[in-house]
Amino acid sequence: MDLGIANKTALVCASSKGLGRGCAEALAEAGVHLVMNARGQKTLDATADSIRGRFNVRVETVAADITTLEGQNSVLDVVGTPDILVNNAGGPPPGMWSEWEKEDFLVALEANMLTPIALIKRLLPSMIEKGWGRVVNITSQSVKAPIAVLGLSNAARAGLTGYVAGTARQVAPFGVTINNLLPGVHATDRIEFLDSQISKARGITVQEAAAERAGAIPVGRYGTPQEFGAACAFLCSQHASFMVGQNVLLDGGAINATL
Ligand code: NAP
Repeated sequence: MDLGIANKTALVCASSKGLGRGCAEALAEAGVHLVMNARGQKTLDATADSIRGRFNVRVETVAADITTLEGQNSVLDVVGTPDILVNNAGGPPPGMWSEWEKEDFLVALEANMLTPIALIKRLLPSMIEKGWGRVVNITSQSVKAPIAVLGLSNAARAGLTGYVAGTARQVAPFGVTINNLLPGVHATDRIEFLDSQISKARGITVQEAAAERAGAIPVGRYGTPQEFGAACAFLCSQHASFMVGQNVLLDGGAINATL
């Protein structure tokens, strides 16, 4: 399917690996020029080279911590006024309600709520002026069904979700859509890390932990960054113009709910 977004430009945050990379690749396949970001320059450059080698698009990189004002400024200096913004950052660590202090919440809120809100606020005016824009926020299935050990994430993502629900309706009249993509378990470094935490806590191997988790997903396996990226590219496409303020769950059926 032609997504109708060739030659648009996108900022894809936190995209040297995992789900962000999946989104960057799918957008590049649709002909979108990219500014990619991550903290580590080496992996970021390697991923950008790989994308340039496979797709006929321009790819620029900015190595910076997107959760800091300085990082946001350096990324926005390079990207200018993109047509598409994909918000992403690393997720908070797992833990226990009794361990989390105010400072832990502030870090999580900064990364997974206030950073996407800041980038949205800074990039919406140019999208509105052009009469076209797409914002996709990578959040989590925990927005629909809490994951107790990820309480910091549950809290921050719920805040972003509430913000998007209102703001998406305010900018829809100008041809700008904002939607959230909610990953269930996808095979990325983050999930390997979480599996290793389960393995330690339960005294089982990482492979056993992964097999148990995959077995609880109706599809019977983890999702892939490629599948995730394809959904992101669709949300950024011309065909998704009527999707506004939605929370799209990609979880292989793991959350057992009718709606
Ligand atoms: P990942 O495989 O660990 O990749 C994270 C990417 O983000 C890397 O490119 C990393 O590069 C970059 N990054 C992390 N922190 C950053 C920062 N402060 N500034 C700029 N770049 C940063 O993680 P993932 O699995 O793709 O997860 C992405 C997001 O989805 C996370 O918020 C995660 O909690 C959420 N999520 C994932 C799943 C899943 O199944 N994978 C499920 C639910 C929610 P550098 O380290 O070099 O910066």
